[in-house]
Amino acid sequence: MAVLKLRQGIAAAALLVLLYWDIWFVAAAFFLWLAVRELRSDGSHGDGGFYLPYFLGVIALAGACLWPPLSNWRFESKMASVATRLADGRRAPVHCNTAVDMIFSPVQLNPGYTHFETGEISFQKHACSDMRRYLRAPQEADLGALNALNLITHEAMHVRGERRESVTECQAVQRNFRAAVLLGVPEPIARRNAADIYLKLYPLRSGSEYFSVDCAPGKALDEHLSDSTWVVMAEDQAAGR
Ligand SMILES: [Zn+2]
Repeated sequence: MAVLKLRQGIAAAALLVLLYWDIWFVAAAFFLWLAVRELRSDGSHGDGGFYLPYFLGVIALAGACLWPPLSNWRFESKMASVATRLADGRRAPVHCNTAVDMIFSPVQLNPGYTHFETGEISFQKHACSDMRRYLRAPQEADLGALNALNLITHEAMHVRGERRESVTECQAVQRNFRAAVLLGVPEPIARRNAADIYLKLYPLRSGSEYFSVDCAPGKALDEHLSDSTWVVMAEDQAAGR
């Protein structure tokens, strides 16, 4: 019985480790091991020796397993680079939480949060999905996708040094056009996305710690940035766009 419990415990621990370290790497390592084993096969074990189609098949499977983590790494790197630039050069690594990360997350209900000691930004799994969706089709951004854009700007403002939520959110509101352009969104769409966040998303914060009546053009929290969302909104209005 004790042995069974020990085995179950080891199996559960191994499963947690696999989930944490990304099961894709483990699967890729398994297929690579099969490939190496096939390369070294000389037929002495009665297995027919090296068989090219099988070898190519397991190499292809190893590559397919490496694609999701590599794609995630590229995505996180891109987000980190943009967040660092928004944070005026302060290093802001970005991490998409896995299912296991979410269990141990200190703020499970927040779509994202910043570790003030390290400057690391964590996005919950669904927030990363929203951001990917936004980057795939920014011209069709719904409120969830716009929220993801605002989230990376908001967390970058925390890395930049602001801790008060209402001020942080207002700094983000003013920089969402800049953030979208840095993410590679075409400028006309970035203008519309930033304006939509201010006009449609920001009012929903009313009554919460993220909202301030002073967050408006010419009011106390206006930083008078040359590329502020409010500046591009005024330009678009003047041009009749
Ligand atoms: Zn915040």
